[in-house]
Amino acid sequence: MTSTHQAFHPAFAGSRHDHERCAHAALDEAARVCASQGARLTAVRRQVLELIWRSHAPIGAYDLLAALNGAGRKAAPPTVYRALEFLLRHGLIHRIESRNAYVGCALPSRHHVGQFLICRACGNAAEIDDSAIARAIARSTASLGFAPERIAVEISGRCERCAAADRA
Ligand SMILES: [Zn+2]
Ligand SMILES: [Zn+2]
Ligand SMILES: [Zn+2]
Repeated sequence: MTSTHQAFHPAFAGSRHDHERCAHAALDEAARVCASQGARLTAVRRQVLELIWRSHAPIGAYDLLAALNGAGRKAAPPTVYRALEFLLRHGLIHRIESRNAYVGCALPSRHHVGQFLICRACGNAAEIDDSAIARAIARSTASLGFAPERIAVEISGRCERCAAADRA
């Protein structure tokens, strides 16, 4: 896996970014990944994924539940948690630990542990997938004989647009 250093990320592109297209592509990719893994993207799982892809801002389970019920479903918390668990297991979403919330993954067919940049102003989260960071963590933990179970690299700050808006 090559390390990616993107100077551009759709999460931080604002109006220059066609999010409808971005979300459609992600949902199509999710359907492909599920088909290739023999996993069933049921209506409710797909709906939860669609709600997560409404934006690049992480969304929590209770907001998802409210959105589902607002869309006419009679969903209870376990329905949402089961759907989230399925989406996580298949790499279709990531959990943002520091926000207790979820974002969609645009590259679910690749096995990876992403790192996240989270803008405190607009709330969007951008995933970077820098294998050098993942390797450095693996090396450091192994050197101490430590077995990592959950790795979360989350950097909060301001995206370029929000920082520019502050200066204006
Ligand atoms: Zn987008
Ligand atoms: Zn990802
Ligand atoms: Zn921002």
